[in-house]
Amino acid sequence: MIQKMRGTLDILPEQTPAFAYIEKTAREICERYGYREIRTPTFEATELFSRGVGDTTDVVQKEMYTFPDKEGRSLTLRPEGTASVVRAMIEHGRCGGVMPEKLFYLINCFRYEAPQAGRSREFFQFGTETFGSPSPYTDATVIALANDVIRALGIRDVSLHLNSIGCPACRPNYRKALAEYFSRYKSELCETCRGRLETNPMRILDCKSPICGKIAAQAPKTLDYLCDDCRGHFETLKVSLSDLGIPFEIDTHLVRGLDYYTKTVFEFVCGGIGAQSTVCGGGRYDGLVRQLGGPDLPAAGFAMGITRLILAMEQAGAEIPQPKTPVLYIAPLGEEAAKKAIALTHGLRAAGIVAECDLMGRSLKSQMKYADKIGAAHTLILGSSELESGRGVLRRMADGEQREVDFSDAAALAKVLC
Ligand code: ATP
Ligand code: MG
Repeated sequence: MIQKMRGTLDILPEQTPAFAYIEKTAREICERYGYREIRTPTFEATELFSRGVGDTTDVVQKEMYTFPDKEGRSLTLRPEGTASVVRAMIEHGRCGGVMPEKLFYLINCFRYEAPQAGRSREFFQFGTETFGSPSPYTDATVIALANDVIRALGIRDVSLHLNSIGCPACRPNYRKALAEYFSRYKSELCETCRGRLETNPMRILDCKSPICGKIAAQAPKTLDYLCDDCRGHFETLKVSLSDLGIPFEIDTHLVRGLDYYTKTVFEFVCGGIGAQSTVCGGGRYDGLVRQLGGPDLPAAGFAMGITRLILAMEQAGAEIPQPKTPVLYIAPLGEEAAKKAIALTHGLRAAGIVAECDLMGRSLKSQMKYADKIGAAHTLILGSSELESGRGVLRRMADGEQREVDFSDAAALAKVLC
């Protein structure tokens, strides 16, 4: 028996309506905000992610699916969406286009991680990227969009964590203070964090080990080291979010796992869905376009994990729209009737009616059981006398009410059923 690879998902018909509903909701809200969809390749040159996501991140160091292709080039299955969208912006000369450029995507991503509830090796993201605007009102708009999607899905018990991690002007001072602080605890830090002390001390704030977490709790705060520009940006963002009625809490140790963020970082965290509780992460990344070979172009965005959104929706008891059930099930008796049933079902479907008929050669009794199981609203039995007269009995399953109908013309019958 060949089985799916560990950490991948078969999304079965019972689960696809939740995915489809999230995608539909995301699309509708993006349209309202003037965001347009972008689709980029599933794999890219490895260098895009090592440069774009950052060499010192867990994603690049441990989590990427990287392999050589037949010509020996190093390729990587995308671990996230932003780097590819930025590459596409540069490659298609859109950085000099009409701004802001507002884009969204619905993608699968790949990360080699320990699979658990809310964490898989292939997973699905809804994300947005906004290019061209340095304004804190853009950050507020991006957060408002994410908030609207989460609320529209019926997710409750969710909080918005907000922080600013500064810019290239003020971050070196902060990094220095942080490195000084953590070097005092060098022997207590986990091995990975001891390495991070040299390469990127901010990553220690993101460490999941309890000991590092405890040490990090007393570490210097980014907010105490912001330059005037970053502080002003953060203040305006906070006021704007309050004006928009979006509650938030300042989380001074929120730094996010990817290297490209500047100024604003945020996460939506949902209670009660287990350890993987961050349903959405995002922020501003004013340096990324330049870092990937484009011009100076400010940008902000977020990504949501779709399976985590589903866990949060289930937790909140949110209703997930299900596919339409048949308006009519046609039960033929015998070969002649089966032929008529197929044609009639086809005609009803052409008229936009969800209709089914027997394809299993079942007895009448088991056909009725099946009709009940698939939730058919009505049934119509076709026997030899019905075939002769072109009239039959339409039975409403909910209460057994019966009425005679003419089924000789599918379009006319469709009107009766509407
Ligand atoms: P985490 O700290 O949970 O690993 P992250 O910071 O690595 O998250 P991002 O790169 O910001 O995650 O991705 C954005 C969102 O994508 C996350 O908030 C989460 O909802 C989702 N996500 C990330 N990794 C996975 C995964 N392996 N499986 C399922 N969803 C994921
Ligand atoms: Mg991660």
